[in-house]
Amino acid sequence: MRRVSIFGATGSIGQNTLDLIRRAPDDYDVVALTGASNVAQLARDAIALRADIAITADETRLDDLRAALIGSGVEAAAGSRAIVEAASRPADWIMSAIVGAAGLAPGMAALAQGCTLALANKESLVCAGALLIQTGREHGATILPVDSEHSAVFQALVGEQMDAVERIIITASGGAFRDWPLEELPQATLAQASNHPNWDMGQRITIDSASMFNKAMEVIETREFFNVSPRQIEVLIHPQSMIHALVGFNDGALMAHVGPPDMRHAIGYALHHPHRQKLPVERLDLAAIGRFDFRAPDDVRWPALRIAREVMARRGLAGAVFNAAKETALDGFIAGAIGFTRMSDIVAETLDAMDAQAGHIDATMTLDNVLNIDHLARKAAQAAILKRAG
Ligand code: NDP
Ligand code: MG
Repeated sequence: MRRVSIFGATGSIGQNTLDLIRRAPDDYDVVALTGASNVAQLARDAIALRADIAITADETRLDDLRAALIGSGVEAAAGSRAIVEAASRPADWIMSAIVGAAGLAPGMAALAQGCTLALANKESLVCAGALLIQTGREHGATILPVDSEHSAVFQALVGEQMDAVERIIITASGGAFRDWPLEELPQATLAQASNHPNWDMGQRITIDSASMFNKAMEVIETREFFNVSPRQIEVLIHPQSMIHALVGFNDGALMAHVGPPDMRHAIGYALHHPHRQKLPVERLDLAAIGRFDFRAPDDVRWPALRIAREVMARRGLAGAVFNAAKETALDGFIAGAIGFTRMSDIVAETLDAMDAQAGHIDATMTLDNVLNIDHLARKAAQAAILKRAG
């Protein structure tokens, strides 16, 4: 039996992970499940899977969680510190699927116990990729990608030498506004941005797909994960979301990973790695699909892609600033404080403002420094939002 913990169990990735675990309950000993607002779901899953402990990030919901777990034998806890502590509970395999920078500290704690970390939380790689990878190395931990594009690249690289890799191409569907007239983008509503053409995901990543901030983060994630230079990373618009990534080698070969847009593939690959096991995902009928389309990304429609290149050029803690500004701008859009196209302005302004404050972006990458700059960048982004609103 493998001991597994799922961080962000109540979310879209978390629920897909539990779907796979539930299919082979005798194979897994569930240690910890975490959630935030949805304590009813968290309690239901913790009881059904006989978890040792269930933790909500939201301390005001601890009483509700306790009440829902009464008599079950499942321990209850709350707060971000309790989540980090739970990441230190011995487990063989840990899913990191909290959304946002809140996933960084638990991910670090998980790596420090030398487990296999299935990493869906791309924000932690964007904020502190070098730190995560170094921590994993120091403790003999393994980090496996769960983001579909990075899982695809990882699979295309099995048995290959990195020095034969010329380029990595990650695909993007183009999100909700791929074909919208540019002049209508500033009026895009929350409901319109929350509707992905191909993938069924959490709301935040769905909006990030419409703005292309998701792909911008994934470009940085690619650099961190595979240690390639920014010049080697390309983004390709592929509306069908079936080719997830391609790796180009020095002999001209392109290895493409093709599969249905179902996160249970990438999650299952990370769960069973290094073996492949049967997964409950659709088998593609390519003759029925008929064609795959591609086009170049458009930097005018999606300024996020250009900003990602700037972040990689600035280096240091620029990724943490970028992520914090993006999360704050997204909160602003969700709350109705700024329009859709203003999100990229806020992120660009915050990066400039933080870069102008000598020493911040160049500080050494420690967890404390990353969390500190995350806090400062959120404040700067909030100020930029207020300035625009006022
Ligand atoms: P969801 O919004 O569906 O789920 C997020 C999870 O995090 C929930 O369990 C939520 O709890 C919990 N959570 C929210 N805020 C906090 C917090 N402050 N502290 C601790 N836990 C918190 O997100 P997704 O499942 O879509 O995405 C999760 C991660 O995976 C993200 O980093 C995303 O970028 C990445 N990812 C997702 C993909 C997808 O298909 N969904 C694809 C590739 C990557 P609750 O719901 O109880 O409030
Ligand atoms: Mg992805």
